[in-house]
Amino acid sequence: MKALAEFTLSELESAFQSVGLPPFRARQVMAWVWQKGALSYDAMTDLPKDLRGRLAAQYPVLGSRVVESPKSKDATQKYLLELSDGKFVECVLIPAEDGRRTVCLSTQVGCPIACGFCASGLDGLERNLTTAEILDQFLALKGVTDAPITNVVFMGMGEPLLNVENVQRAIERLCAPEGEGGGLSSRRITISTSGIVPGIAKMAQMEGQLRLSVSLHAPRDELRTRLMPINKKYPIPVLMEALQKYQKRTGRLVTFEYILLNDVNDSLSQAADLVDLVSGLACKVNLIPFNPVPETPYRTPPRERCSAFAARLRTGGIVTTLRVRKGADIDAACGQLRLRKSRVLSPKS
Ligand code: SF4
Repeated sequence: MKALAEFTLSELESAFQSVGLPPFRARQVMAWVWQKGALSYDAMTDLPKDLRGRLAAQYPVLGSRVVESPKSKDATQKYLLELSDGKFVECVLIPAEDGRRTVCLSTQVGCPIACGFCASGLDGLERNLTTAEILDQFLALKGVTDAPITNVVFMGMGEPLLNVENVQRAIERLCAPEGEGGGLSSRRITISTSGIVPGIAKMAQMEGQLRLSVSLHAPRDELRTRLMPINKKYPIPVLMEALQKYQKRTGRLVTFEYILLNDVNDSLSQAADLVDLVSGLACKVNLIPFNPVPETPYRTPPRERCSAFAARLRTGGIVTTLRVRKGADIDAACGQLRLRKSRVLSPKS
């Protein structure tokens, strides 16, 4: 049994042909799934009923199962999916008022990076997701939204640039024409990294206009290493050099993500250090007030402190956004749903 996300259109045509089905049936099925967001064969009304039953048994629409899908007051909806080996992964649908639909996808089960403020890294890495498991998240969310998905961000669980081949293949499918893929433009796709330098170099070679987002969270090495142990391996000067090279080669803007942690990285002098650090790059800074994770010692700064930090960056000439917290009431901090579920199923002593 192989789920549909495991097939390109030509692979599905060959698979169908090998069991005596004409290629147009594969095109019909792919269009239902990738264009119309069908989540089951029952919806595919132009296929004969007996064929639908046969295909459902051989080629399930999704390889994963939706376990939970809590909806936030702000309409952000988080999905917990169970993979075929019983592991859990999360993805999020973020509707915007202007009609845009962004989906946030995971790339690994757990995460090896172990950032001190993140629920996903608490239990370490379990494994990489396959290309099909990444695409399954997209299809599951496409099937429940009432408007086309316009943006994809790889900002869920895991470090995308440590699973770069599978992520790259998933992106190719997301950018394939609608009907055999997601029909997205690559400029609508963002890869978010903790700063994996070889991965950034690889990304600079990728086709299209993918966007790169770097989780910085501190302007100096000592604090960044404390918050993100990966900084020991790729310290700030090495990271900045890699970004300079990336920008020189691609000409693309870099976004820095900076989670504001109360009394840790949110002072005005740290804002000034941040201005000095990023001024040499064409970039913008996204400030994100911390989404509380009970297992960590960090807290959310008061709103005025966040605004003052943002104002200091702007005064320094840095394009800055201060993100409105979304989905906080549904444990939208990445990894929390999965963590809760995994611990219920296999409690640690
Ligand atoms: S913030 Fe991202 S890179 Fe860091 S532990 Fe969480 S998922 Fe991994």
